[in-house]
Amino acid sequence: MKSIDKTVELSAQMTRSVFKINLTRLAVVLLAVLASFVAVPNAALAAPPQHRDQVPGFYRLKVGDLEVTALYDGTGVFDPHWLNGTTATMDGVVKGLHEDPHMLDVVDSGFLVNTGKQLILVDAGAGTWWGGAALGRLAGSLRSAGYTPEEVNIVLVTHFHSDHVGGLTTQDGKRVFPNADVYLAKAESDFWLSPEIAAKAPKDVQPFFQSAQAIAAPYIKAGKWHTFSGSEPIVDSMQLVSLPGHTPGHTGYEFSSKGQKILFWGDTIHAQRVQLQHPEITVGFDIDQTAAAATRNQLLPKLAGADVLIASPHSSVFPPMGRLRKEGGGYNWVQVVFTDRWDEK
Ligand SMILES: [Zn+2]
Ligand SMILES: [Zn+2]
Repeated sequence: MKSIDKTVELSAQMTRSVFKINLTRLAVVLLAVLASFVAVPNAALAAPPQHRDQVPGFYRLKVGDLEVTALYDGTGVFDPHWLNGTTATMDGVVKGLHEDPHMLDVVDSGFLVNTGKQLILVDAGAGTWWGGAALGRLAGSLRSAGYTPEEVNIVLVTHFHSDHVGGLTTQDGKRVFPNADVYLAKAESDFWLSPEIAAKAPKDVQPFFQSAQAIAAPYIKAGKWHTFSGSEPIVDSMQLVSLPGHTPGHTGYEFSSKGQKILFWGDTIHAQRVQLQHPEITVGFDIDQTAAAATRNQLLPKLAGADVLIASPHSSVFPPMGRLRKEGGGYNWVQVVFTDRWDEK
């Protein structure tokens, strides 16, 4: 027993001393590590990976009782060659672009209005019909905002260019918003769906006609395609605002609630930082250039003097919502300021 006790005692002593040595070593190592942190703070840290995911692509605000959500579809650059103006004005644009290469950066967006009774989408983004991988995020932004495409009751189309309606239909002809009734001006529907007009159209406009017909087809087949030709009511507290020029039936939608107003003005402006200073500058996509400039010249002074929020699909900022104020010979865009608090006034 004694010898066993001795062994145990020895072994306990050994354990203690081994433990002591280990502790001492540990302390030395720890001190060395700590010293290395103090000497060169970043040397022992792995470089943090960069993150490429962005904040969700939506922004919502209240207009009276309406909940309005801007839905991001993508970002692109407006080609300066698409702008038409006098030589002097265009020289100024080229000079401006030289000083600020981002002057013509634009977003593509759609908007969702929740009236409390209905879910109304105003324009649907490009889907896979325009802009390649740069556009086509709208359905994802809608989901991020807490809704599903199946919940949308109505789609109001400002005009039938693919960057506003491509998001309605998949390439294999399925409705992205299967329960929605689509509304657009009769002049717009008749123009883009006419085989005679399509046959006579310039070559660079042909793709717009082909995609228009493919995008509309499943809604027409389902009896979900509706046109308007005047001021007939479609939705409570919403007025149709005819904005001809960009396309034959280009239409704005003005919603009012509790004295507050928001105008979804479609492609009234493309290159915001150029055309607000020079409303007379038109774009290559304006089918009637004179009418497009005249529409801007009538509309902008009215909006500058009124408290109307504007939803502009091709704003140079996101969220693409702001107000207009007169500035010098042109207009200044007063961007809504980000807030996470509801304005209940
Ligand atoms: Zn357009
Ligand atoms: Zn557009």
